[in-house]
Amino acid sequence: MDEKYLVVNAGSSSLKFTLYAMPSEKEIVNGSVEKIGKSDSYYTLKFNGKKIEKLQLIDDHTTAVKCMLNILLQNEFIKEIEEIKGVGNRILHGGEFYKESVVIDDNVMNNLNSLIKLGPTHIPAQIAGIMAIKKVLPNIDQVAVFDTTFHKTIPKENYLYAVPYSWYEENNVRKYGFHGISHEYITNIMKKRFNNENINLIICHVGSGVSLSCIKNGKSYDTSMGLTPLDGVIMGTRSGSIDNSIISYISNERNLSIEEIDNILNKKSGLLGIAGQNDFRDLEQQAGFGDERSKLAIKMLENSIIKFIAQYYFELEGKIDAIVFTAGIGENASSLREDIVMSLSNVMNVKLNKDINDNIARFKKYQSGVITTEDSAFEILVIPTNEEFMILKDTYNILKTKNKVQFQKKLKI
Ligand code: AMP
Repeated sequence: MDEKYLVVNAGSSSLKFTLYAMPSEKEIVNGSVEKIGKSDSYYTLKFNGKKIEKLQLIDDHTTAVKCMLNILLQNEFIKEIEEIKGVGNRILHGGEFYKESVVIDDNVMNNLNSLIKLGPTHIPAQIAGIMAIKKVLPNIDQVAVFDTTFHKTIPKENYLYAVPYSWYEENNVRKYGFHGISHEYITNIMKKRFNNENINLIICHVGSGVSLSCIKNGKSYDTSMGLTPLDGVIMGTRSGSIDNSIISYISNERNLSIEEIDNILNKKSGLLGIAGQNDFRDLEQQAGFGDERSKLAIKMLENSIIKFIAQYYFELEGKIDAIVFTAGIGENASSLREDIVMSLSNVMNVKLNKDINDNIARFKKYQSGVITTEDSAFEILVIPTNEEFMILKDTYNILKTKNKVQFQKKLKI
């Protein structure tokens, strides 16, 4: 018989959630509480093709969790709170502590607190989400699923920075990589598609955050994000990789502290820094009206992605099974995909199937598909990511194992 599991993705001012039935893997409902702490906070619910949106004053994460449970009860997705058998939480950073997902206890909470310095914009909200659930549902098991664990297979020569080795040994300075839940989801789909566990892929997760990963023999071999999600490709508001000397130079020139510069590189750079917009739909619209900065920002993003594809093509010695586009921009922006595939076409012997590419987006005829022609050297595909589903699977498997062990201990098997 099915049991209900909740997946939670807490942000600084939002709480996204999906309720699933397991083991049937059926999504029952998903929703979000938005603008937590603001006067115009609201919640949304999506189920059976319907969408409900309602204003509701929500002061903090605990109120958001209460709101989430109330709407699940009111709309009869659950009859009583005890029906929820476990909660899976998306966590940005596992640092050197976690190479797998883990059941959350006091020790895990202490470790998460010590990781805040590596994820100051994400981890405090994620801790607030866990605490709020603990307050309202003290007896429920919660699992932490990390965005870093999939990248644990990256070899040392690819995860080390060329800085004093003691920074790695004593301060854990290394590349961890992020969006691992998404990269793993896509890798698993592609393994099934090609019936090959040892697949070689380049995965382009292009959303507000952007990261590319190089999958060699079915495992993460390299990725574009680093110690934090600031590194790598240009993003909505993050700079991606820059010359580090810019930090001391601009600190002197503009009398800015390291913290101020860090904040600007994370929140006011990237597409926003160049064009004044970070939403790709707005950028495309402005570019369509002839706005030069918007055109420039889009070109810079495309070039930045192409550079990593080229690097990974060589890391895979040209033996590629497929390139995959996913996440908000990757799944929807056919023009960006077209520009990138056209740039790759001569060197990599791939040809765009323009008709199919033009028709893939969440709101178009197809939501996924192969965007290259049959005579291409390898496939380039669009596949929607589903991070919630990955979190669900890990949460379910871990809690099932835990409960089995406890049951066997009780019976002294
Ligand atoms: P994500 O972080 O994966 O939710 O992706 C967010 C990004 O996807 C934003 O920059 C959006 O503008 C972009 N996006 C969403 N829908 C579309 C669309 N239909 N066309 C172009 N970009 C889109």
